[in-house]
Formats: sequence, structure tokens, C-alpha cells
Amino acid sequence: MRTSEIFKNKTVLSLEVFPPRRTASIDTIYNTLDQLQGLNPDFISVTYGAGGSATNTATLEIASAIKNHYGVESVAHLPGIHLSKDEVLNMLAAFKEAGVENILALRGDVNPDLVPKQDFRYASDLVSFIKANGDFNIIGACYPEGHNECPSLVDDIHNLKIKVDAGTDQLITQLFFDNSYFYSFRERACIAGINVPIEAGIMPVVNKKQIERMVSLCGVKLPEKFVTMMERYENNPVAMRDAGIAYAVDQIVDLIAHGVDGIHLYTMNNPYIAHKIYEAVSTLLAA
Ligand code: FAD
Repeated sequence: MRTSEIFKNKTVLSLEVFPPRRTASIDTIYNTLDQLQGLNPDFISVTYGAGGSATNTATLEIASAIKNHYGVESVAHLPGIHLSKDEVLNMLAAFKEAGVENILALRGDVNPDLVPKQDFRYASDLVSFIKANGDFNIIGACYPEGHNECPSLVDDIHNLKIKVDAGTDQLITQLFFDNSYFYSFRERACIAGINVPIEAGIMPVVNKKQIERMVSLCGVKLPEKFVTMMERYENNPVAMRDAGIAYAVDQIVDLIAHGVDGIHLYTMNNPYIAHKIYEAVSTLLAA
């Protein structure tokens, strides 16, 4: 099923998982997926390490298992920056054979150890290519605070419009910790004529290191309320985890009240946290 269809009937809940690290067995992800059953997600997406070959087959294998073994719609992430057209054609054929109908088409982050291939400079190039070479539902990434390489929010929305016009059917945002960024972004997108569903990406924070890494990677801003919480609980892992869950629930409650199209939960492969959040918001999603 094309995941963009689901938004017509409800507030969508989707989950994101990542393939196990190189040193871990692939079975660890199946334990995670077993434990995510019961959350009744509308779809589960699987990340893909740009430039790394080991995770690439893992993304396909896991997305296929989600669809064919667990009976949940799956989305395979596909960053194009380090791929050639032929490699993407092979991936599309493999997705089709596995019954994976939904692709999150990305540029990907530049791997400093690899020279980018020139076939897909921007995600919009990959979107057009997928559109021309298969019948997939195409999802794109977007950035409520602006992408960290883009000089202005106006340029970023302009570039997003190009990506949507190339054939993107729905969008998922990068994580953010202040909902006002999301509401302003949604307004800019609407003014720019971007009319596809936009899911809000929510990441529950479980430790200070995790968030410091995220801030350095994608430049999201941390509101004072959030920083105060982290400073108060940084040396108490259980309290930090519970405060992180409460913060994410608070964000989700506010987003649903403001009519968000869907919530995309970055699970960090942590079923305990996903369950706690689901328990707190499941009735709101259904209301
Ligand atoms: P693009 O849409 O190409 O945008 C990249 C930059 O180029 C932006 O600054 C944009 O404004 C600019 N731009 C776009 N088009 C043009 C144009 N025509 N002219 C000039 N400038 C332009 N990375 C992974 O490697 N693997 C994953 O699995 C993964 N999953 C993700 C999931 C989500 C929900 C999100 C939000 C991000 C994910 N990423 C992943 C990270 C993503 O690859 C990076 O954020 C990357 O830096 C940008 O990718 P993009 O697809 O948004 O790129």
C-alpha cells in the first residue's frame, strides 16, 4: 500500500528503526520489531547508511521482513549521493521484488571518506529518477528549522517545492524540540503551495550525549525548557529517560491538538520508550 493514502483517513503514526551496527547480529533488529508489535503503526521506515554497503542490503532485508513477515507497511530509506543510476535501478528492482512500495528518497549526508557520485546531486534528482523508473510512493525529508547547509529558510522552502513537484507524495520532518518551528514551517510550506501530508519527526531524548550528537549533526535548537530538563537529570539515567519520554509526549499532544498529519517516531530501536509514548497518546491519535 502507498503510505500517502493512509493520511486521508486518520492521524498517522509511523516508527523509524535502523539496521544493527556492523558488529551486531541482524537478529537484534527482529527482537526489536517483535517488541514493537502492539503499537499498531501505520508504517515502519528503515534507515540506510549513505556510503556504507553492509547496511544497504540490511535495509532491504528488514523492510521486506516488516512487510512480508510482520504484515506492516514498510518504507525503505534511499540516499542517492554515493549511488550511481545503475545502482539505484538495481535497488528499485530489489524493492519491487520484495514488495516494498514506499521509498524515502534522500540526498544523504556526505561521507568524508568517499567522493560523491554525480548522478544524484539533490534528493529531487533521485525523486525524478525513481518516478521515471518505477511505480513507488515517494517520501521526502524536510527541515522545520531549515536544512543546515541552506543559506535561508526561503531558499530551503523553494528547494523543497522543487522536490515535491518532482513527485514527492509525502514529507517527514527532521527532529525538533520546539513545536513553534514546525507550525511556522507548515505555514511557509502552505504558502509555497506544498500540499502533501507532512509528518512531524519526534525523537525522545534518553541521554545528553545523544542530543549533543544530534545538535552537532543537524543543528537543531534546544529550547530553554529542554536544556533545563537535561541539566537537572543528566546524571540520573532513569530520570533522564522518563523526562525525555514526558517531553516527547508533551510535544505530540500539542501537535495532535494542532491538527498534525502524522507523528513519525524515531524509536532509536528502543521498544520500551516507544511503548511508553504510545500508551500516553494512542487515544489522542484515534480521536
Ligand atoms: P535535499 O533535499 O537534496 O537537500 C539538501 C540541501 O540541498 C538542502 O540545503 C537544500 O535546501 C539544498 N537543495 C536541494 N535542492 C536544491 C537545488 N535544486 N538547488 C540548490 N540547493 C538545493 N540520511 C541517510 O544517510 N540515511 C537515512 O536513512 C536518512 N534518513 C533520514 C530520514 C529523515 C526523516 C530525515 C529528515 C533525514 C534523513 N537522513 C538520512 C539525513 C539526510 O540525508 C540529510 O539531512 C541530508 O543532509 C539532506 O538530505 P535531503 O534528502 O533532505 O537533501
